[in-house]
Amino acid sequence: MSAITVSRLKNGENEPDGDTVAKLARALDYPEAFFSDDDPEELDTGAVSFRSLTKMSAKERDAATAAGSLGLQLSDWVEGEFRLPEANLLDLSYETDPEVAARSLRQFWSLGEKPIGNMLGLLEVNGVRVFSLSEDTSTVDAFSFWRNEKPFIFLDNFKTAERSIFDSTHELGHLVLHRHGGPQPSRAAEREANMFASTFLMPTNDVRARMPRFITVDAIIEVKGRWRVSAMAMAYRLHTLGLLTEWQYKSACIELGRRGFRSGEPRGIERETSRVWQKVLSQLWAERKTKSDIADSLHIPLDELEGLIWGLTGPTIRPDKDEARGTIRAVK
Ligand SMILES: [Zn+2]
Repeated sequence: MSAITVSRLKNGENEPDGDTVAKLARALDYPEAFFSDDDPEELDTGAVSFRSLTKMSAKERDAATAAGSLGLQLSDWVEGEFRLPEANLLDLSYETDPEVAARSLRQFWSLGEKPIGNMLGLLEVNGVRVFSLSEDTSTVDAFSFWRNEKPFIFLDNFKTAERSIFDSTHELGHLVLHRHGGPQPSRAAEREANMFASTFLMPTNDVRARMPRFITVDAIIEVKGRWRVSAMAMAYRLHTLGLLTEWQYKSACIELGRRGFRSGEPRGIERETSRVWQKVLSQLWAERKTKSDIADSLHIPLDELEGLIWGLTGPTIRPDKDEARGTIRAVK
């Protein structure tokens, strides 16, 4: 097919005939039925919280929002089959202090100052719909938005478990603080969401009570597991609480970086898994259905579906795209 033909199709100037649709389906590895479906609901990028919209190329943004559109389709399918918890979040957009907002939401959910044992579970039980971003891009860590009074979070699950927990709490911050747009996308909004996440995951009194008088890097690595955060996030929290001076914080960061805590999380915690997807998949299993059946009914390829729930459904190795399709076909 010529580039001009493709571009005309993309712009809606030409209607493809059956032969063209077949070619597109083959080239893109999408079912033919996908091309005759209604246009998928597009995400309003203005309402989506992207962490670094400015650094993102148009192509990356389009890929992320397209993943979001498919996520909405999948979400609608799940809601048609299962009753999911209603949204139970506070609208804290009036609150100017993100630390106060984090405490208010903790109070609303009756969490006191206890560490969060399972952040993904907490989000789900309070009605947040969580999906994965199947592409690992350096510029899109996560994003979130409201749609029909329902909160959505899309997460890059290629990061460490600690990072994913922090990212999802950061997005929770956007959902409650910047629900009506607010100052986003801006540096200020990012700072607020980070501060919200930091306070929500590591409550002031609990941290103060647990830290030794002299805080060494070893101590940071030892205690961080209580709050299920990265060593870097822990060090930053200790700094904002005044428990580490600027100089101590900087030296801690250098030492943590030297020990591999900048690029990863040595001996980190296990990834959290979704209770919603556990239920959905076991129910399907009981009905002798598979993920392929969901993909078929949505007219999307299985690997797109796998991508949307990857990292949420337990310790499965993500197979290569072609392999995934082959394996599932063999099982059927
Ligand atoms: Zn953000």
